[in-house]
Amino acid sequence: MAKMYYEKDADMNLLKGKKVAVIGYGSQGHAHSLNMKESGLDVVIGLHAGSKSAQKAKAAGLEVMSVADAAKASDVIMILIPDEKQKSVYESEIAPNLKAGKALAFAHGFNIHFGQINPPSDVDVFMVAPKGPGHLVRRVYQEGKGVPALFAVHNDASGKARDMAMAYAMAIGSARAGVLETTFKEETETDLFGEQAVLCGGATELIKAGFDTLVAAGYQKEVAYFECLHELKLIVDLLYEGGFEKMRYSISDTAEYGDYVTGKRVVNEETRKEMKRVLEDIQSGEFARNWLLENMLGRPMFNATKQKELEHPIVEVGKELRGMMSWIKE
Ligand code: NDP
Ligand code: MG
Ligand code: MG
Repeated sequence: MAKMYYEKDADMNLLKGKKVAVIGYGSQGHAHSLNMKESGLDVVIGLHAGSKSAQKAKAAGLEVMSVADAAKASDVIMILIPDEKQKSVYESEIAPNLKAGKALAFAHGFNIHFGQINPPSDVDVFMVAPKGPGHLVRRVYQEGKGVPALFAVHNDASGKARDMAMAYAMAIGSARAGVLETTFKEETETDLFGEQAVLCGGATELIKAGFDTLVAAGYQKEVAYFECLHELKLIVDLLYEGGFEKMRYSISDTAEYGDYVTGKRVVNEETRKEMKRVLEDIQSGEFARNWLLENMLGRPMFNATKQKELEHPIVEVGKELRGMMSWIKE
């Protein structure tokens, strides 16, 4: 089994007496900065002029500066703005303030791995990538728990980059759950593959295909919604708690028989071949090139698809049904 590291393996003192800049205050940014502050570290937020999230950061008691000033004032600079914006912000505001001995950090390897950001060799470059959405990184920290994370070192100028990464993982709560060492390449490629093929792309298309099949056959769309979307959470909770075994223990034997005979008809050999091609597009850099190009063109495909997805009938029925379940928060 791969070696997991926990709080006993990390030394947060490495970050005490240092200033940590968190660039961006979005999903990951708010979680990292508030968790680190509550872990006793000196944190400053770097944001652009006219930033909507600056008010939120200030209201939470954090000091907010321009990106350049935050980078200048800090020893560790964690970049938590959207991946496609990092290169230009890095070049204009961070690089000029990256003095030898500082550390540059990421929560995803995209820009380093695909050569968009090339930091100088006298700076430490590491990654701490929580394996969960930012809002959970924050919520579970407050509950005394943590979201597991991956860490990696791209450049070890100080000889302490690996220890710093572990200290950082501890400060955001991840070392409570376990952190696993990886490389920028492995994290980037597996993260992109997971979100595309399974977690986001795979899951939404599977839900839509199931919903559409039932509705087209004349079943009520409310029934189709409960069956194909709502109940998925309950199944995933069982998977999360106890793997396939616990899920299959809890479902009926009829469901388990259906699982064995039908699952492979839906996710079949052709699907597996396509997954392999998806992975190849990620490994070759084809996906990254397309995404960066899409941004340069003003996101025509992204925006059109986002709009089209909002017109799918599952959106309206979902709003209505969730509206009736007061315990589900939007
Ligand atoms: P968000 O989209 O939530 O980041 C938005 C933040 O970035 C806002 O505070 C926004 O400010 C700020 N921002 C946008 N443009 C600029 C700019 N030009 N200069 C300064 N600040 C700017 O990002 P995520 O948290 O989703 O992602 C951050 C990193 O974490 C990425 O590398 C991502 O891959 C990684 N990651 C994300 C996960 C997630 O849960 N979302 C999971 C694991 C890793 P404003 O709104 O005020 O304009
Ligand atoms: Mg990702
Ligand atoms: Mg991910």
